Amino acid sequence: MDNCIFCKIIDQEIPSHKVYEDEKVYAFLDISQVTKGHTLVIPKKHVSDVFEYDEDLAAEVFTRIPKIARALEAAFPEMQGLNILNNNKEMAYQTVFHSHVHLLPRYSKEDDFSIHFGHHMEDYTADQLAEIAKQIEMQVKK
Ligand code: 5GP
Ligand code: ZN
Repeated sequence: MDNCIFCKIIDQEIPSHKVYEDEKVYAFLDISQVTKGHTLVIPKKHVSDVFEYDEDLAAEVFTRIPKIARALEAAFPEMQGLNILNNNKEMAYQTVFHSHVHLLPRYSKEDDFSIHFGHHMEDYTADQLAEIAKQIEMQVKK
C-alpha cells in the first residue's frame, strides 16, 4: 500500500534489521528497541489491524510467532520472559497502521516496559458478567 512505512520496509525501500522472512511474513527489529531484541512480526499483505484479518492470514502470522520467540530465547539466554503485544487503533496505542505483533524480551523488572492490569471484578455482579459474555458470544461469527 502506498505511503505505508511497513510496506516500504517489506519492499526494502526503507532499510530494516530483518530477523526472519518467508513468503507470508516479515520480522524485523523495532527501531525503538524498548528492550534488546524488540521485534515486530508483520504480514506481507497490508492489513491495518486485527479487525481486517481472515483466518488464513491470522494463521500465517501467528504460526510464525513461537519460532521467532524461541529464536529470541536462544539468541539471548539472559532473557527471563517475553511479552507479546498487538495494538489495534489509536485508542489502544497503535501508531503504525499496518498490523504488527510486538515481541518484547524481558530481562529485568527495572527495564523500560510496563503494562498495568487493573482489577475491577468488584464492579460487576455475576449476572452482569453473564450478560457481557452473552453479548460477545452472540457476535462471534462461526
Ligand atoms: P504501535 O505503537 O503501532 O504498536 O507500534 C509501532 C512501532 O513501530 C513502534 O514501536 C515504533 O518504534 C516502530 N517503528 C515506527 N517506524 C519504524 C521504522 O521506520 N522502522 C522500524 N524498524 N520500526 C519502526
Ligand atoms: Zn502496509
